[in-house]
Amino acid sequence: MLKGKSAVVTGSTSGIGLAYARAFAKEGANVTINGFGAAADIEKERAGIEADFGVKAAYSAADMTKPAEIAEMIKTAEKTFGSVDILVNNAGIQFVSPVEDFPIEKWDQIIAINLSAAFHAMRAAVPGMKARKWGRIISTASAHSLVASPFKSAYVTAKHGIAGLTKTIALETATFGITVNAISPGYVWTPLVEKQIPDTMKARNMTKEQVINDVLLDAQPTKQFVTVDQVASLAVYLCSDAASQITGANLSIDGGWTAE
Ligand code: NAD
Repeated sequence: MLKGKSAVVTGSTSGIGLAYARAFAKEGANVTINGFGAAADIEKERAGIEADFGVKAAYSAADMTKPAEIAEMIKTAEKTFGSVDILVNNAGIQFVSPVEDFPIEKWDQIIAINLSAAFHAMRAAVPGMKARKWGRIISTASAHSLVASPFKSAYVTAKHGIAGLTKTIALETATFGITVNAISPGYVWTPLVEKQIPDTMKARNMTKEQVINDVLLDAQPTKQFVTVDQVASLAVYLCSDAASQITGANLSIDGGWTAE
């Protein structure tokens, strides 16, 4: 379905991003992966995508806190594959703390990676999409783009920002064959979720089991984690022709969390 297309997925060395990259490659797209990690692990994932799906995969080390590196990542992908047809703004980090102790540099870092990076990447990728009259932009927002939880001030703010940015760029690009949407997962079992458990234990004075059952899964009426493959399937659908009239939407995949 995506043969001949080129996709850039930020934050795709692990978790949801890696699942997006592999799902697009499975549909025939060439992909640029991005994110941090050990060089050997990243190379294994990159080469694995090529071997498993018979497409080309490139790696960009761009740091999502650096606007110039983000623009360069898009330019390089356009040069390498001829275009950037699909952009997924997915890189994200979390930090959990009461507001009065929230480190200022953590606030700045979360706003940069989880929100501003999407602006910089869209700014760089939209001109090529407009010229070719086709594009798919997807941002991984979160249930936290719709509702809040205590102790996540920067994350909730950034994700609500993504919801607004999505609507704005959708309106600007609507007549160019470009769709711009956000996917808002509930809790997906990835390193990002696993890593916040110790801080949540501290902030709420709970055991690990209590955090998993009483905080994380408590929010999800289905009492199950969302899987990375379920999120990636929704992204593939948004890239299909069937989804060409879905734009400016913020699609929940959260086990019923935001229905409550
Ligand atoms: P993850 O920690 O597995 O992956 C995050 C990715 O971002 C990694 O590849 C990491 O290297 C990359 N990254 C971090 N800082 C970066 C930087 N400065 N520059 C470039 N890349 C950077 O996390 P995940 O759970 O897969 O999260 C992916 C996205 O999904 C995030 O935006 C997150 O907020 C969102 N999300 C996750 C969940 C969940 O429950 N896991 C729920 C809702 C939304």
